[in-house]
Order: sequence, then structure tokens, then C-alpha cells
Amino acid sequence: MSRPIELDELHWLLAITQSIDVGVVVLDSDYQVQVWNTFMENRSGVQPKDAMGQAFFNLFPEIDREWFRKKVSSVVTLGTPAFTIWEQRPYLVRFKNYQPITGQEAFMYQNTTILPLRSTNSEVTHICVVIYDVTDVATNRRQLQASNLQLQKLSSTDRLTGLYNRGYWEEALKLEYVRHGRYGHATSLIMFDIDHFKRVNDTYGHQVGDQVIQRVAQVLRGLVRDADIAGRYGGEEFAVLLPDTDKAGGGILAERLRLAVEAEVVEHESGPIRFTISLGVADLGYPSNEYQQLIEWADQALYASKRAGRNRVTVYERP
Ligand code: GH3
Ligand code: MG
Ligand code: MG
Repeated sequence: MSRPIELDELHWLLAITQSIDVGVVVLDSDYQVQVWNTFMENRSGVQPKDAMGQAFFNLFPEIDREWFRKKVSSVVTLGTPAFTIWEQRPYLVRFKNYQPITGQEAFMYQNTTILPLRSTNSEVTHICVVIYDVTDVATNRRQLQASNLQLQKLSSTDRLTGLYNRGYWEEALKLEYVRHGRYGHATSLIMFDIDHFKRVNDTYGHQVGDQVIQRVAQVLRGLVRDADIAGRYGGEEFAVLLPDTDKAGGGILAERLRLAVEAEVVEHESGPIRFTISLGVADLGYPSNEYQQLIEWADQALYASKRAGRNRVTVYERP
């Protein structure tokens, strides 16, 4: 009775080996391929019939032979598995990355496990190489590291307002975008622009114009939370990135900002100066493939506010 069950199990194991989403290769003591699963076939383009009996190093000349031999020899001698991780060695065998997104590497990052395989007399006669595709994790981590470095290098504040300057703010947005890609939490953006600001400059002069910009920045700082990232995006344009906030939440803050700015008065010898802002809000609820899209959406909403008569909030909806 027991024999057919063992045969069944063997079939099951083979079916599982073929269908799992990791590379499985078994090598004999001459490094010749004995098992070559579907993952290996698909990623390398080499069919099992052409891989079987071939030397692993001929199939993948990019492998550092000496290093690999040492690794395998310790697995065989100690009878315990060995591991490689992408941080130390980005890949064992060079496979194309099939989901290239802008800025991503062209190859597949890999972690690998080398397992000792014992024959019935418990001698290690073969080894099994298991290859894991960790491209997603690796590119994400590398992007985060690159953005963090970039952020540390930049001077961060705008002289006139004390808010983040454009360069720093945009790096912070990039970082937040990568985080969003990884964790998927809500992220929204408010962009706004002072209405008819040329008139302020023309009527009262540039210095008074600067005062108005400073006052708007002060209102902004007073209303955002610590985690929010508020920057001066351009001359009299501002941008606030709101982590963990969707566009409905962003819209509420935007409306608060609008009312607070509308209530401000800058005193001038010729009388009080009042001013308003137009705002646009967007979030990452729609699919996107680069951070600039969030800016575009918020900007489109901002211009809708301008066209609709200014001093108002528009929340971006996909047309
Ligand atoms: P709109 O309602 O359409 O926004 O009209 P606007 O007059 O505000 O038009 P726009 O936003 O295009 O004008 C921006 C003006 O802001 C032009 C520029 O001279 C002025 N400006 C930009 N940066 C500064 C600055 O740092 N200080 C001052 N005083 N003025 C600035
Ligand atoms: Mg403007
Ligand atoms: Mg303006």
C-alpha cells in the first residue's frame, strides 16, 4: 500500500517544484544540471532538455566560479544550507527584469539558498539552488536610500518664508511617492496660488508683495500638522504634501486655509490690504507611475479654481 502513495507524493513534489515562483536547480558533484524548473526555463529561455546535463557555469558564465565553488563546498562539507542576499551580491545568475518601471534596474535582484541534498546513505551528493526574485524589495529600498541621501544634501528652506524650498520639497515628495508605492497609504497634495498677485505688486510695490507672501506662509504654518510637508513651490505658489491623508481630508484643510487667508489683513499706509488664494487638491487614489502626476493633478484642480472665479478649492476628479 505504501508504495503508490510515495509515488503520488513524488508527482506532487514535482508538480509543486514546476509551478512555484522561484527558481529551482539541482546540480550534481560536477555542477551539471539535474533539475531545471519552469521558473528557470521562463527566465533564462533555456528549455529543460537543453539544460539537463549541462554545466551550470556554461549556462551562466557570469557566475563567479571560485566564489560559488567555495560556497558549495561548505554546504557539502557542513551539510547545512548557505544563503546569498541581494545587498551583498545583486544576483547569482543574470536574468532580465520583466517589470521595468522608470528608473529601475534592467536585471532581476535575487536572494538565493543553496541546499545540501542527501542520498539514502545520507551522503551529500547533490545540491539544490533556489533563486528568489526580490527585485521589488531591492529597487524600492534603493530608491528610498537614494532619495534620503539627496534630501540630506540639499539646503532645505526658503529665505523669504522659512518654508521648505522647491528643491527640498520636491525631493520630499519623491520619497513620499516611493513610500506610497510600498505601503499604499493615502497621500494627498494641496497646491495654491495667491489671486491677482500682480495687482498687489503693481499697486503697493514688491516689498509689500513680499510681506503678503510671508503672511500667507505664516497662515499655512499655523494650520498644517507636523507631519505635513509645506513648501514654497514658486513665487507666490505653495504646496503642501499630506501623508496619510486622502483628498477629502486634504480638501478640508484646503478650505480652512482659504478661509484663514481671506480673513488676513496686511496694514498699509494707504489702508488695509486683503488677499485670497485659489487651491487645488489631489491624492494618489488614481493609478500613476511617477510623482509628477500628483503635481499635475493638483495643478489642474488649482487652475479649475482660477477659472471658476478664484478664492475657492477644487478637488481633482479624473475626467
Ligand atoms: P492669478 O490670480 O491668475 O494667480 O493672477 P496673478 O496676478 O497672481 O498671476 P500670477 O500668479 O501669474 O502672478 C505671479 C506674480 O507674482 C508674478 C510675479 O511678478 C510675482 N512674484 C513672483 N515671485 C514674487 C516674490 O517673491 N515677491 C513678489 N513681491 N512678487 C513675486
Ligand atoms: Mg502664480
Ligand atoms: Mg497668482
